[in-house]
Amino acid sequence: MEIVTRMNVFRFNKRNGLGSVSVSSSVITNQTTIAESVRLTGTGLHSGGETSVIIHPAGEDLGIVFSDSQSNIVRALASNVVDTSRGTTIGLNGVCIRTIEHLMSALSGMGIDNAIIEVLGPEMPALDGSALPYVEAIEAAGVVELNAPRRLIRLTEPVCVRQNGSFIVAVPAPKLSVTYVLNYDHPMIGSQTAGFLSDETDFGKEIAPARTFVLYEEVAGLLNDGLSQGGSIDNVIVIWQDHLSSDLRFPDELVRHKVMDMIGDLSLAGGRLQAEVLAVKSGHTLNVEFAKEIERMFCHSEDSCLLKTAG
Ligand SMILES: [Zn+2]
Repeated sequence: MEIVTRMNVFRFNKRNGLGSVSVSSSVITNQTTIAESVRLTGTGLHSGGETSVIIHPAGEDLGIVFSDSQSNIVRALASNVVDTSRGTTIGLNGVCIRTIEHLMSALSGMGIDNAIIEVLGPEMPALDGSALPYVEAIEAAGVVELNAPRRLIRLTEPVCVRQNGSFIVAVPAPKLSVTYVLNYDHPMIGSQTAGFLSDETDFGKEIAPARTFVLYEEVAGLLNDGLSQGGSIDNVIVIWQDHLSSDLRFPDELVRHKVMDMIGDLSLAGGRLQAEVLAVKSGHTLNVEFAKEIERMFCHSEDSCLLKTAG
């Protein structure tokens, strides 16, 4: 096995959020896992309780698997998603693990194909509201290349899902790209667009640091619904009509966070999607519906299974 210490080098073009890029990359076509277990602890965004997660190495072809404190196993697949209100929750046989999307995005963005995620609490820790702490943990642990080719999902025709003026459309392409359009009728948000190009965008620097956000008008309703009990301005950007709760890390941090969420939800399709994806105003519900459609098309029928190997 080979320790991979550097996935790629990238200079980002901030002009339009998409990379006109200079790339020096060691493109990995084999599956990977992390080199050693790494633990993160923090407050659960919705439960408000302390929770820990340990990311363990795993062998080839396992995929991403979540485990609770009783060693119940839930595979990170769209078909196992049981709730998408303010986050993505997977569950099976009465076991639920909430708010997995930021860790899933970090694993996907950092090119981790296989890992066992041990969750010691009701949900993932909110950390700083972004995927950056997960990325830093993965970088600290190191990445190991395994002796098996990556599982790639190659689209052969366009796929589109729609819901209430939001839509996601994907067309065949040699690698994954995501363009997200955020459009809020709100003076502090308006319309924003950002993108991610697989193998070219520096996920750790350009996407992972973008934090989650909530409109001030939504806060009371979330608390009444039992959500966001652990929310604070340390892990959520609160948006008022005329100001924000903290300085932004990027001028377009909000839409970058939506790109991050989308990368996490797309990874639930069961392989590395190779497609050009355009998402307009989608949230976790539509993201997961799209991932379910891809998973159903490519994984549930042996005859039509187009999961292919690299190389
Ligand atoms: Zn998010």
